[in-house]
Amino acid sequence: MLTDLSFEEIKSYVKKIGLPEFRGEQIFDAIYSGKTLQEISNLSNALKDIIAEDYPKYKIEKCFTSKDGTKKYIIRFADDNIVECVLMKYKYGYTLCVSTQVGCRMGCKFCASTLYGLARNLSAGEILGQVLLVNRDLGGSLKKRMITNIVMMGSGEPLDNFDSVTKFIDLVSAGKGLNISQRNISLSTCGLVPQIYKLMEKDYNITLTISLHASEDEKRAEVMPIANRYKIAEIIKACKDYYEKTGRRIYFEYTLIKGVNDSEEDCLRLAKMLKGFNCHVNVIPLNEVKERTLKATSRLEAYKFADRLKALGLSATVRRTMGEDIAGACGQLRNKLLKSEN
Ligand code: SAH
Repeated sequence: MLTDLSFEEIKSYVKKIGLPEFRGEQIFDAIYSGKTLQEISNLSNALKDIIAEDYPKYKIEKCFTSKDGTKKYIIRFADDNIVECVLMKYKYGYTLCVSTQVGCRMGCKFCASTLYGLARNLSAGEILGQVLLVNRDLGGSLKKRMITNIVMMGSGEPLDNFDSVTKFIDLVSAGKGLNISQRNISLSTCGLVPQIYKLMEKDYNITLTISLHASEDEKRAEVMPIANRYKIAEIIKACKDYYEKTGRRIYFEYTLIKGVNDSEEDCLRLAKMLKGFNCHVNVIPLNEVKERTLKATSRLEAYKFADRLKALGLSATVRRTMGEDIAGACGQLRNKLLKSEN
């Protein structure tokens, strides 16, 4: 698919099929402006036929708007697989939360995305396609970038789809493209240690976010099966190495689950573990998932938890909950749609 290719690669593609170079620029412009093949006005039908097989066929299937303005998009790909992405409006611009896989195989007990396992990886172009389609929906194009920030916190484990995800980062931050600054891109992972080291080698300026959710391994393993594979100490060591190498501050996500990880001891242990490390903790009250039994800690308790971390010397905030009325937590909406389709 053509969205998998960089500008230079699209230029070689048109050369290979015997077209002049400027056709490459036209095709690139159309793809980055989120146009369908039919909507391209400066290519003849004969030419469109030649590139039809390779031209992207993803589309926005549905869009739900929350009371708070958050939008949830359902994107459908050529093979009929669907993913969700979520658009959030902040003072400084629009942030898009993209999916990196269809489903997920990490098995976290609180998460809706992993309920039916992994269907397949997304290609770099399919991750980028989410950005291009939503950018267009906001009235943007190649030359008019509406989306300023990207977080890879939708469905899927980004580091379990390493090659596509890194190619996506290359594409979306390319000067000849949407040119989104790597400083405005966050990658969230449940902590695949070897891949964190591999990511370091890329020397990106992106923000690495770790889904920690517990301060001791046994407790983490109760909700995150990946904890049986990598110990918290190994993850923290990788984060410290990442910080040393890239100078980028690490963010930790800590989703509060009632009676599981929200006690005073949990808080103290977390503070002790991260003290002295230049990082930030995002405290998130669990977004309850219908199919799951885990319950949320109250927002008030979440503020207390974060305040306690701050009093103990950490940088911490409670994440604002957005789009709750439109099944904001990743994977929730896809599951609902899959059920209604079957
Ligand atoms: N697989 C990656 C990215 C996707 S999940 C990761 O694990 O980081 C993005 C974030 O949302 C993670 O921190 C994840 O733990 C959190 N999350 C998933 N389901 C949630 C829920 N129901 N409520 C609150 N946070 C949730």
